[in-house]
Amino acid sequence: MGTRGREIVGTDVEQLLAQLNSALADEWLAYYQYWVGAKVVKGPMRGAVAGELIEHAGDELRHAEMLADRIIQLGGAPLLSPQVWYEATGCGYDAPEDPAVPAVLAQNIAGEQCAIGAYQKLLDEVRGKDEVTFAMIAAILADEVEHEEDLQAFVEDLAMIK
Ligand code: FE
Ligand code: FE
Ligand code: MG
Repeated sequence: MGTRGREIVGTDVEQLLAQLNSALADEWLAYYQYWVGAKVVKGPMRGAVAGELIEHAGDELRHAEMLADRIIQLGGAPLLSPQVWYEATGCGYDAPEDPAVPAVLAQNIAGEQCAIGAYQKLLDEVRGKDEVTFAMIAAILADEVEHEEDLQAFVEDLAMIK
């Protein structure tokens, strides 16, 4: 923990840590949803879609790392067991039981839209109170906004070949 770094946070640090751990659970679940989705997805544009899903999986893993590092800076502990991810998650996990490209895209678009809402809410809470967390969440949010558009672009392209 960085003691002075924790002192300058003008909000309830324990509550913030719980929110960051909830986001951490979301990111790990999003990572796996993308990773396994890329393995099983089939249908039109499978190769391009799988490549994008793999890229997004890498981004979600990087987000998990950013969140874990910030949690440690603030004197907390990142969730230590995957068992608690389901209790802590805000956005949940959608297993790609239907591997068709449109179904996998729809699941991941819904996940990104949940993430965008959650990070926007967290940004509003820390604005003016914790600039370090604010900057980190803003960077993650920008990636989620990009992810949503990447996936929605595939949906647009698919509509054109029908
Ligand atoms: Fe993410
Ligand atoms: Fe994302
Ligand atoms: Mg992308």
